[in-house]
Amino acid sequence: MQLKKNGRRTYNCLCPFHSENTPSFTIYSQDDPQNDRFHCFGCGADGDQINLYAMLNHLENGQAIAHLAHRIGLKGKKITRKQQLEVSRRQKDRQLEKLFKDECNSLFRFFCDLRKHVKERAEFYGEEDSLLVYYRQKETYYDYLLDGLLEGLNGETQYDDLIEVYKISKEVRKEWNILLAEHVQTYLDSME
Ligand SMILES: [Zn+2]
Repeated sequence: MQLKKNGRRTYNCLCPFHSENTPSFTIYSQDDPQNDRFHCFGCGADGDQINLYAMLNHLENGQAIAHLAHRIGLKGKKITRKQQLEVSRRQKDRQLEKLFKDECNSLFRFFCDLRKHVKERAEFYGEEDSLLVYYRQKETYYDYLLDGLLEGLNGETQYDDLIEVYKISKEVRKEWNILLAEHVQTYLDSME
């Protein structure tokens, strides 16, 4: 909408709700006694900011409030408790989604490293090596964890289960890193 200042407290423009050549749509500024309302002298459209937002976006007033609340980060005065919960639930969902995407990516990279390490070890020590057997078990477990996280991203797993998988994957990875460090140390010691 192209707004044109008309006097100190009002703005005029072509009405978005009916077809016209001369602006008859008026927006009253905060300084005007009619503050933050609009009125069209052509078609009679009338209301406040929220009504205007709702009408322009073809929404119910309640939906308009939720949209606006979301855009301004919950600072609106007219937001109900239920709408607040809905908005914060969506923010939490997005945070979790990011958490799981990051976790999937790093787990995937880690999984690739593990595969490489297992392959090298098999070539070096032979298939009967006891650490290799242990790594192979971990490999299967990582497959399972990665599946769990990917399923979660596709929305097929409950968030509670997903958080559990996420925690376990962190622990297993930590354990595996300790094991790997010990293994490297043993190898270095044998070189002396
Ligand atoms: Zn109008």
